[in-house]
Amino acid sequence: MGSTTGFLDTVRIENPFRNADVRLGDFADLHMPQSREARHAQASRCMNCGVPFCQSDFGCPLHNLIPEWNDLLYRGQEKEALARLLRTAPFPEFTGHVCPALCEKACNLENDATTNKDNELYLIETGFEKGWIRPRIPATRSGKRAAVIGSGPSGLAAADLLNQLGHEVTVIEKADRPGGLLMYGIPNMKLPKEIVERRVRLMEAEGIRFALNTEAVPEELQGYDAVLLCGGARKPRSLNVEHMDAKGVMFAVDYLTAATRAVLGKTDSEASAKDKFVIVVGGGDTGNDCVGTALRQGCVSVTQLEMMPAPPGERTANNPWPEWPRTLRTDYGQMEAIHRQGSDPRIYETTVKQIITDDYGNITALETVKLQRTPEGKFAQVEGSEQTLPCGLLLIAAGFVGCEEKTLDRFALTPDTRGRLLPEDGGHHLTGRLFSAGDMRNGQSLVVRALADGRNAVREVDTWLKGQD
Ligand SMILES: Cc1cc2nc3c(=O)[nH]c(=O)nc-3n(C[C@H](O)[C@H](O)[C@H](O)COP(=O)(O)OP(=O)(O)OC[C@H]3O[C@@H](n4cnc5c(N)ncnc54)[C@H](O)[C@@H]3O)c2cc1C
Ligand code: SF4
Repeated sequence: MGSTTGFLDTVRIENPFRNADVRLGDFADLHMPQSREARHAQASRCMNCGVPFCQSDFGCPLHNLIPEWNDLLYRGQEKEALARLLRTAPFPEFTGHVCPALCEKACNLENDATTNKDNELYLIETGFEKGWIRPRIPATRSGKRAAVIGSGPSGLAAADLLNQLGHEVTVIEKADRPGGLLMYGIPNMKLPKEIVERRVRLMEAEGIRFALNTEAVPEELQGYDAVLLCGGARKPRSLNVEHMDAKGVMFAVDYLTAATRAVLGKTDSEASAKDKFVIVVGGGDTGNDCVGTALRQGCVSVTQLEMMPAPPGERTANNPWPEWPRTLRTDYGQMEAIHRQGSDPRIYETTVKQIITDDYGNITALETVKLQRTPEGKFAQVEGSEQTLPCGLLLIAAGFVGCEEKTLDRFALTPDTRGRLLPEDGGHHLTGRLFSAGDMRNGQSLVVRALADGRNAVREVDTWLKGQD
């Protein structure tokens, strides 16, 4: 630990948001970076704890060597700090933007945690800026071929490591651009897409082949010694009401994909919220991204419906540190809605009772109803609590129920009861030369968990490849 009093001398300051009115007028990065001096000061706050909970199973799933690189950063040894970070973190520029920073929630400084997420983003961006990040081309090749299906964070992390181990890697992606939910899902303001493209270019320079617009089919994978399925858990949970096929009713990821396509193509989105009353079903992170996107597209208003009651403002006794705090969070989209509309867009303990359409099949309004828990713990609708809200765009962000059936059918694979390709032994090996990783194996989760799982899967794939003649 460089500074013995860092956390006493310096207050935690996160990378600030850009002005709300300005950022609502574009899809550029939400945040602004801080100066080099500010980063050194923030890194000085890390106490190099004897038991670094940030690195533990409560904290970073990649088990990043956080106290080590914070200390090097504090001392101004940025190149060395970055090298320590890259020992465990394949793509800090992704996590530096989108990670909920489990490490900070587990930090011994609790609410005053070290700004690990901003520090890692600073280190990797400095690395790119100063030319320290160069293609790492393996000195020797194993002669073994691996196909990675899906180019989300798990697929990219696995492809990166397999390539570094000398195997010949092809990433097969059905979308027109690589990145999975990093590209089409997470909005541009949270993760600018040139950051994903920059990493993919680097991986190509390192020898990884990307086959885009290509849906994986087993017959065309005969030439590969191993196939790692990283297709995500992208089947959305639907609503059990009529008129789900009405015009103006969309699943969140389809809407967010169209929005990103429009940003990248500099066109209007084919599913724009402009001049519409928007209702988002689902009060979680995906719903929040829909709120932020709809506001930027110029909606009249945006409302978020959430079945559950509002979480408590503070940790409860059964949710102590260093666990992830199950407390009320107000994310950027909700903050922006408060700024624009004067109140929190979330309505709790409420669901959709009826989708109301006109004669042409367009959604015009939504009937909502309040929910309450029965003594058996089930949800029941509260009679007489119905309300009709105008609605021109209904976005369903009610979660995901597992992997897409098409891929399962093609590969003749049966998921578990939660829609996951999770082998019974808890590993990654499914059958023959097939393996699984990321959300496809674990269910919808987080970018950092997908990265860690992709890397963990490589251990098993590598052992398998070494055993193939
Ligand atoms: C809207 C949204 C916002 C999110 N925001 C965050 C966030 O801020 N922070 C965070 O940590 N997590 C976030 N998440 C979760 C995170 O994005 C996922 O957990 C993560 O992307 C999972 O990675 P993956 O590689 O397993 O799958 P995915 O990212 O889903 O990638 C799977 C890829 O496989 C491709 N594919 C599927 N089947 C085939 C096939 N048969 N052939 C070829 N290609 C195929 C798909 O096209 C896709 O590109 C968010 C999720 C959503 C939906
Ligand atoms: S728990 Fe917090 S203060 Fe302690 S080593 Fe980890 S980041 Fe630093």
